[in-house]
Amino acid sequence: MKKAFLKKNIPYLAFFYLGDIFSHHINSYVGGDLIDRLFQAVIEIETIRLYPSLVPKDLLVGFILAILIKFIIYSKGKNANNIIKSRKRNKMFKWGERKYENSPLATFVRCNKCGYKIRFGISSNGKELVSINLYCYHCRMLEQEEKLPHHKELEKEVFKILKDKFHTDKTEKKKLLDEQKELYDKKNDQLLKKKMIEFENYKFGKISREDFMEIKNQIQESEEENKERIEAIDEELKQAGNIDSLTKEIVEKYIDRIYISGKGIERIEYQ
Ligand SMILES: [Zn+2]
Repeated sequence: MKKAFLKKNIPYLAFFYLGDIFSHHINSYVGGDLIDRLFQAVIEIETIRLYPSLVPKDLLVGFILAILIKFIIYSKGKNANNIIKSRKRNKMFKWGERKYENSPLATFVRCNKCGYKIRFGISSNGKELVSINLYCYHCRMLEQEEKLPHHKELEKEVFKILKDKFHTDKTEKKKLLDEQKELYDKKNDQLLKKKMIEFENYKFGKISREDFMEIKNQIQESEEENKERIEAIDEELKQAGNIDSLTKEIVEKYIDRIYISGKGIERIEYQ
């Protein structure tokens, strides 16, 4: 126990010793300020006296140096612990999930020259995303690399294209879908009326129970079908052209590939 303690603290003892003899060495020079003496002491370091000084001032310097080193090592250790902890925390994220969000375009962009996927290299300062660097690895290897546009500019451009292209479609689509929906609503009304008429017929003995049941089932089936269609239309309307911001989901929905060069977007292949 005592041995372990001693072993652990020997380095600090060494620093204590160094501080002590260096302090004595500095103080053996007289005149000038501390900086002058320090300078002199360093220049003539070979003249340093190697046995420890017992002058309180030198002992104090040794002691302070040892404490200082201990503190530095302690805070470094704490830092290392924190790094290990934060790594563990990061590992708790799902596999494949990145700590920093890449551009929503990251997996859709290809090199117009060679057709290879453009890499979106993320650089961070450990806390936050600093930049995303676009390059074609293939062209880089062939030393034919072009300076590609900034990802923000690409995103802006794609956003505008998608909005222009699918926004007009949306109004058209809404009109069409509304008309269709009205049609199905009317159909459902008619079916309901038919059901009531057939029920009257059955009640007054004009048709048999079996016939009525068959008609009833047919009507019910059509009703359900129409209801499903209306629901599908509602969903389609909700989804249609909902482009308020550029997300990966939006890009995925409309775009298959975007070909770019140094000049910008060359062409887009839609879904
Ligand atoms: Zn390329």
